[in-house]
Amino acid sequence: MGEETPIPTAEIRKTLSAQPLAGLGLFALFAFCLLFGIRYGDRVIWKLGIEPRIWDPLPVLMYHSVIPDGESANDAMTVTEGKLRQDFDYILETGNIPVLSRDLLDPVSLPKKRVLITFDDGYENNYTLLYPILQEYGFKALICPIVGKIDSSDPGFCTWDQLREMAASGLVEIGSHTYDLHHEDPQPPNNPKKWADGIQRRPKETDGEFQTRVLDDLQKSYDRLTEELGVSPVCFAYPYGKAEKDAQALIDALFPVSLMTWEDTADLAKGTRRLPRCTVTMDSPLFWYVK
Ligand SMILES: [Zn+2]
Repeated sequence: MGEETPIPTAEIRKTLSAQPLAGLGLFALFAFCLLFGIRYGDRVIWKLGIEPRIWDPLPVLMYHSVIPDGESANDAMTVTEGKLRQDFDYILETGNIPVLSRDLLDPVSLPKKRVLITFDDGYENNYTLLYPILQEYGFKALICPIVGKIDSSDPGFCTWDQLREMAASGLVEIGSHTYDLHHEDPQPPNNPKKWADGIQRRPKETDGEFQTRVLDDLQKSYDRLTEELGVSPVCFAYPYGKAEKDAQALIDALFPVSLMTWEDTADLAKGTRRLPRCTVTMDSPLFWYVK
């Protein structure tokens, strides 16, 4: 006969007496979630009676220019009207609903199958060719113009009147793509690392220089859009999809939604900033990105 191990009765009694307290705490947490929903940051992501739509994927599509059928695209960022219709038909067939970036701020009200269609730069063909197709399909899309191009009435870009008309239709939302930072800095010879594109900080740029060149530009794009359209923009599209840590605080303060260009499906549970986007070209069928 081996020796029996003594039972630590005092320990067991201590554990048992703590259990009702833990149970009560869990019950209180459960009741709180039931009453007030579950929040992520400042957004409600689950509420009783509402499906947790935040968990469903959100494909974000990036287009730029539209040309009439029969014309050939000069660059990969241009699609024909026919390709756009093909894509829109596919979205209809698969039961996906186009939403706007401002809709993302209330994720519980989003449709289960949704897609965010975006157009960068603000080309005039967005008004002459894209807008009639949006009206025909009843589709919504986000246009992020280079705001300075609109202010300077640059040929080939939309006018303020055209942007106002599209925004008033409710089918189009206007975001920012900077005021005048949509260019690449020349690359210094033999130093590929010293390269600053779009909003990126230049090597050795002082705080003052960065403030004037980049931060003031971002603020100006926001202010001009607000003045001309009577409503503040919600979304910022990073030029070349390149972020800059020194500009992040301002961009996040001005724009609750922002868009990059790395290819993936957006996960709203992670937030609405720096969402991935898929570039749609003549050669990319939509089933690659939208299910
Ligand atoms: Zn662009």
